[in-house]
Amino acid sequence: MSLNKIFYSPGYEVDIGNHVFPTRKYRMVKELLVERTSLGEDDFIQPRPLDSREVAEVHTPDYVKDIKNASLSYAKQVKLELPYSPELAEASFICCGGTVEACEYAMKNGAGVHIGGGFHHAYPDHGEGFCVFNDVALGALRAANKGKRVAVIDCDLHQGNGTAFIFRDDKRVFTFSIHQENNYPIPKEKSDLDIPLGDSAGGDEYNSKLSEGIRKMKEVFKPDFAVYVAGSDPYEYDQLGGLRLSVEDLRMRDTIVRRETVESGIDLAVVFAGGYAVKPEDTALIHAQTVDVVLNLT
Ligand SMILES: [Zn+2]
Repeated sequence: MSLNKIFYSPGYEVDIGNHVFPTRKYRMVKELLVERTSLGEDDFIQPRPLDSREVAEVHTPDYVKDIKNASLSYAKQVKLELPYSPELAEASFICCGGTVEACEYAMKNGAGVHIGGGFHHAYPDHGEGFCVFNDVALGALRAANKGKRVAVIDCDLHQGNGTAFIFRDDKRVFTFSIHQENNYPIPKEKSDLDIPLGDSAGGDEYNSKLSEGIRKMKEVFKPDFAVYVAGSDPYEYDQLGGLRLSVEDLRMRDTIVRRETVESGIDLAVVFAGGYAVKPEDTALIHAQTVDVVLNLT
């Protein structure tokens, strides 16, 4: 039993057929955490799904309706790159709740974790790149509406294009993305701060540019709340990525994000985003490591 509450739903393990996205990773992370840290079964809480009206704080009502009622056009399904199913829709509404609850928990307790979410490629009127609803934006918006100065620290290998687009004119939210330049999405949106990395960049370069970027962001924006989009796809054995971070480099990445935020009194909510390692066990291990580092469990 620990003092931390982690948001998680078994409903995230949706059957999407033979696909590079391992939806079982969420369960695997939960199992690893129970096995290896002080967290017990009781520490995992099922989030309440957001309703359509709440999801429409970021998305267009028509798009929310299409997901809810299984009326998504074929063209939009192709862009989403996921097979639509009622289970996928249900998981997507729960996932928005998970990130919003993790953000609310973080605002009260300093840190909050959602074993899920990070669907940063979703735009108001469509989903893309495996992302149905932009839970990152929904969580960030909740915090901004509570008067927080919100930073999105997006360390997924891919640029957080949907999030950058959603907050392009919102001065309360600062979007920061460090990503592989020569990868999806192309073209990219303009975040408040983008750090593009060349192919095959390794851990030393990544982590020094990340530290520099977070410091710059803190200097110019002075956030008091952050959503950490902790994709595990900068990993050297990722099938969709072209960066070369080892498991240890990724632990250092998480440590930098935690240290830089704790140091400045910035509450931190964590969401998972991508991870497509050749071995799904590696993806789960890297995500579990992030939870371990952020919550200082071991
Ligand atoms: Zn990614």
